[in-house]
Amino acid sequence: QPQPLVLANWKLNGDRQLVTSMVSALRDAADSLHGVNVGICPPAIYIPALTEACYYDAIGVGVQHISEHPKGAYTGELAVSMVKEFGVDYVLIGHSERRSLYQESDQQVAAKVAQVTSAGLTAVVCVGESEAQREAGETLTVVKAQLAAALQGLAQSSPALLVIAYEPVWAIGTGQTATPEQAQQVHAEIRSWLQQQLGDAGKDITLLYGGSVKPDNAAELFAQADINGGLIGGASLVADDFIAICQAA
Ligand code: 13P
Repeated sequence: QPQPLVLANWKLNGDRQLVTSMVSALRDAADSLHGVNVGICPPAIYIPALTEACYYDAIGVGVQHISEHPKGAYTGELAVSMVKEFGVDYVLIGHSERRSLYQESDQQVAAKVAQVTSAGLTAVVCVGESEAQREAGETLTVVKAQLAAALQGLAQSSPALLVIAYEPVWAIGTGQTATPEQAQQVHAEIRSWLQQQLGDAGKDITLLYGGSVKPDNAAELFAQADINGGLIGGASLVADDFIAICQAA
């Protein structure tokens, strides 16, 4: 069983004050979080403040976005080598908001996974179907195509550097969480697909669920056999809520 992992995705929210208050709240709660890996993905500009604030704490640092290119004329982008210099551990890749609002493709996902894992950082690849795709019975086809892109990028790197986050698009920011059974069903398919592709290494890949995880539904989601933790949006902006979710993992 992979060790539980809970990641905060602040999206375009938060400020310096939230960085320090969240770190100190997590520090105060550290005794209740043994055995759970916790990380925060703030907007990239706050990463130096976050790494400094949690220098002595067991808190992982993540970014929400990187370029698929190592360097060059790509205005506005950040490269893996740059975020690595600032102590980043996790890189979110292929979040549904990036896919739908910024047309991030599976080809880009594959290129980013290659950049991130060859640098020795952990690639957190987000997959998930839209409501229309679910209704059309396409959930597994969509998810497997997204997973295939992730594995294509992983190539020679260690599967230990890959985390998959299943985030059904219809559950993100809607308050409409997948039921634990719905989520587990897809997670079990993801697990068996990964094992088919990677053999035993597929057993150890951390599988996160994301989409309206809250303190009152986290425990039953995380109790499912193939759900190893969560990727938390809205509830990760409130320290008490985020800590309660981490404690449930
Ligand atoms: P919410 O928790 O706000 O639904 O967001 C989930 C998400 O997209 C995390 O990446």
